[in-house]
Amino acid sequence: MEIIRIPRIMQDTSRGYVLRGRTIGFVPTMGALHEGHISLVRMAKQDNDITVVSIFINPIQFGPAEDFHKYPRDTEGDTERLQKEGVDIIFLPEISSIFPENFLTYVEVEKISERLCGTFRPGHFKGVATVVTKLLNIVKPTKAYFGQKDFQQAIIIKQLAKDLDMNVDIVVCPTIRERDGLAMSSRNAYLDKKQREASTVIYKCLKEASDLMKSGIIDVRYIKGVMHDKLLKESSVSGVDYAGVYDPVTLDELSEIKGDTLLAVAVKIGETRLLDNMLVNAAKER
Ligand code: AMP
Repeated sequence: MEIIRIPRIMQDTSRGYVLRGRTIGFVPTMGALHEGHISLVRMAKQDNDITVVSIFINPIQFGPAEDFHKYPRDTEGDTERLQKEGVDIIFLPEISSIFPENFLTYVEVEKISERLCGTFRPGHFKGVATVVTKLLNIVKPTKAYFGQKDFQQAIIIKQLAKDLDMNVDIVVCPTIRERDGLAMSSRNAYLDKKQREASTVIYKCLKEASDLMKSGIIDVRYIKGVMHDKLLKESSVSGVDYAGVYDPVTLDELSEIKGDTLLAVAVKIGETRLLDNMLVNAAKER
């Protein structure tokens, strides 16, 4: 396994593989790897000749009051894990090589970046879209893998890859959960024991909403009410940023349920902000 830190070297290495007709699967991460990340790595390995994983905690996607400085870091553990998985290259750039002092260009995906998390984290998706554009330009993968856990992020990246003619397949992979349903996330490490127990309410809330839809309930306001009540009854939930029923293409809140539906939740448990979502097509499943 090779560790590459310099963007130019990563670019030249990828170009070499492409010239020899090899396909490259790419998994961008912020490290502190868990089984969710590893599931993407396995998909990338299965589909491609060469697998590249980047570890880069992107400073420009964190707001000034957010957790950039305390975000979990474990480069040594991550490296060992990726080696065991048979990854070919870890791309591990310095912040200054991705965002040098004279950096002036940003990528903004309109509309879908303004919904859901966009309302609560101004500038977050501009930071994500910019760094992912750069990483895709540096690694030049055939396919890049993202988790459905961050559904909004995944559709923003699909949109930018299409709009900017990036010639890459964006593959969205299923959410990997703990046994009790909590979606795996590097930020779960912030939770103390009581908060960790309480955090199962997020999956339970999505499951209850999806069961209601599958049982034929189409009253969106009722479903949203059930979701909020369930979350707010849990004393460790310190705030609900959003919880409801959305159009999976536009991310607009739905006024009636028709076909594919996105159930999405963002809550704060103590100081920790956690996300989860579920795609449901009640009509198909009835
Ligand atoms: P992060 O390191 O949190 O930026 O995540 C890197 C990639 O892993 C993103 O595409 C995430 O959506 C994906 N990911 C994170 N958690 C999970 C999970 N529990 N299941 C599947 N993919 C995930």
